[in-house]
Amino acid sequence: MIFVLNCGSSSVKYRLFDGSSPLASGKVERIGEAGSPIADHEAALEQIARDLRLASLPLEAVGHRVVHGGARFRTPTVIDSDVIDEIRALIPLAPLHNPANLEGIELARRLRPDVPHVAVFDTSFHATLPAAAATYAFDRGLAARYGIRRYGFHGISFSYVARRTATLLDRPVDELNMIVLHLGNGASAAAIQGGRSVETSMGLTPLEGLVMGTRTGDIDPAVAFVLARQGGLSVDDIDALYQHECGLRGLCGDNDMRTVIQRVSAGDPHAQLALDVYCHRIRKYVGAYHAVLGRLDAIVFTAGIGENSADVRAQSLSGLLPMGIAVDPARNAAGRPERVISPDGTPVTAYVVPTDEERAIAEEITTLLAPSARRQVVSSTEKA
Ligand code: AMP
Repeated sequence: MIFVLNCGSSSVKYRLFDGSSPLASGKVERIGEAGSPIADHEAALEQIARDLRLASLPLEAVGHRVVHGGARFRTPTVIDSDVIDEIRALIPLAPLHNPANLEGIELARRLRPDVPHVAVFDTSFHATLPAAAATYAFDRGLAARYGIRRYGFHGISFSYVARRTATLLDRPVDELNMIVLHLGNGASAAAIQGGRSVETSMGLTPLEGLVMGTRTGDIDPAVAFVLARQGGLSVDDIDALYQHECGLRGLCGDNDMRTVIQRVSAGDPHAQLALDVYCHRIRKYVGAYHAVLGRLDAIVFTAGIGENSADVRAQSLSGLLPMGIAVDPARNAAGRPERVISPDGTPVTAYVVPTDEERAIAEEITTLLAPSARRQVVSSTEKA
């Protein structure tokens, strides 16, 4: 059995697998928020451990989602104290995510010190970014000193969705060029060539790129200078503003796409502009990534908004028929969760493919712990 833990800043998701079959799953949300019965991650994890009788389960491993793995972690990694120190050192690059991930790791290791704990990183999938895509046009010395480059995120999801799409197309993933749009609370796009990430919209941190619920996505770096010089805002003020008060929320006051779309239907102009900016940004990236890939076989929507919002899918891809991209209104509006939404015969097949990060983590760990790989894990653990 593999227990997968996905600790976010205010939520803990978990799933228990026996091989590839999920046995149990759950979510604790609103941790530490006013009025929530769950005070902190420790309380959340203790509740989960009690519910599942975690202490006595016949576990093979515990898997942890870790958002930022920097330049070092290119594959799933068995956690030891050095690994924990490195994940901690990356907190400045993922201040919302890595602390929560670490807390989950430390609590779970205390509960089950007898099994390997494995970190699976959101950045790893993008280790294949070519230098031209990974490098900012920035002072070379400073970039090297502070690790300033584009890392990319949502890699666990991109990798899973790319493999799943290849299965749906009944073609090997290494023959396919695709654009995957992960549109959730956080949102990013990836250009995937032969199963390898060659471009992605998030960068040094999960702030760059597409418009998100509360994050800016792309913004002229000079906006920060104006806010500091004319508004007197500190670096921390600007950081908090960019993370929590921008995106859809900054544009219209709401960060949940369902509410934004309800307000659009009621004729609200601020919500309309928010939706237009959101979809325009996606369309711009689709065009750019089509150019990066040259030939495009598939374009895939995933995560909360990508899987559920027909409006966002239709508006983002409207008018792209000259590029071989179209959405069929009936297929887009309804059907099985996993489906083709382009008309038959269009050169680029458009899909909705639900993501499953916990399953992807369990699969990675099963591969890592397979008998041939297990010998290496044991010997590297012994060395450590
Ligand atoms: P995720 O981070 O993948 O869980 O996605 C969460 C986001 O998905 C929420 O903030 C909502 O904005 C969005 N979402 C969920 N269901 C719908 C829906 N039916 N229509 C539009 N957006 C949705």
